[in-house]
Amino acid sequence: METKRWSVDKTVDKRELYPQVSQAADLLRENEVIAFPTETVYGLGGNAENDGAVSKIFEAKGRPSDNPLIIHIGKMEQIEEFVQEVPQKAAKLMEAFWPGALTIIFNKKEGALSDVATAGLSTVAVRMPDHPVALAILQESGLPIAAPSANRSGRPSPTTAQHVWEDLNGRIAGIVDGGPTGIGVESTVIDCTEDIPVILRPGGVTKEQLQEVVGEVGVDPALLKSKEAPKSPGMKYTHYAPDAPLYLVKRGREELQEIINEKRREGLSVGVLTTEENKAYYDADVVYACGRRAELETVAAHLYEALRSFNNTDVDLILSETFPSEGVGDAIMNRLLKAAGHKVIE
Ligand code: AMP
Ligand code: MG
Repeated sequence: METKRWSVDKTVDKRELYPQVSQAADLLRENEVIAFPTETVYGLGGNAENDGAVSKIFEAKGRPSDNPLIIHIGKMEQIEEFVQEVPQKAAKLMEAFWPGALTIIFNKKEGALSDVATAGLSTVAVRMPDHPVALAILQESGLPIAAPSANRSGRPSPTTAQHVWEDLNGRIAGIVDGGPTGIGVESTVIDCTEDIPVILRPGGVTKEQLQEVVGEVGVDPALLKSKEAPKSPGMKYTHYAPDAPLYLVKRGREELQEIINEKRREGLSVGVLTTEENKAYYDADVVYACGRRAELETVAAHLYEALRSFNNTDVDLILSETFPSEGVGDAIMNRLLKAAGHKVIE
């Protein structure tokens, strides 16, 4: 399949985006799948009402069929078509964070969406993205759009159209290039089907921000211990992994440098994932600075690019610094732990 590619300038007026947006929306209505930018990562969208369209998403990504997709909407009213009810706390969260990096789980109305999209669950995950191009496409199509990250399953999520191209060229109908995404890690997933909302996946909206709006917020125990079975099916799979094995090093710079030296003495080529503040400190085969530790948002924004960049080198292993699990650091550590398959050097 030939993959079309359009460039759009997200800063222009909505009407000027129109030709590319309408082509993308037409393809979605024809049940083709296309990649488009959101404020978190690039998404791979397909008509959530159509089994065929949704199956194309799973196939293009090589995604396990028991991992449900997030349904994206461009207008608030759309949600009534496929959720049973909007609980009060969910309504508060929608008002505070939509459009934005928060995905909310609701009890679903049977028959309104493709069961392939929701992996046969009785619940559905919904988000309204905060990106002018994504919103324009969603609104123009008028459809609920199932959209996971636009990468091959298991690989780091795409934060540029080039990343999508590397993974999915020839496998999907089109890519809308709107430049690099902003936040760089996926949305926070919160389950609002019980009285106390529970975070199933940390992401762009922090626990602290959620608590300010709805008070008590729980955390799926599987996020704290790698051995619990997660409530969010997708959290059990290996994700975001670079080609070379990744180890998280919970030690100071001197000790990290000693590990580098030891591995190099064994004849291995070593990559280091660090930050601007620390990069000059290390002597390794590849040193990649991913944002600034003093501003964790910049680390999140560059994390997947950093993980992908090691695939263009011949390092045998990657050693990464760790980050405080607070604010967006929670999402960063969650992704790093998964990318490392929980290999941590304490
Ligand atoms: P991705 O599409 O790669 O951003 O992943 C979406 C995440 O949301 C995965 O971890 C899914 O397992 C999770 N998810 C989607 N729908 C549901 C649902 N109904 N209940 C719990 N988790 C869900
Ligand atoms: Mg993903």
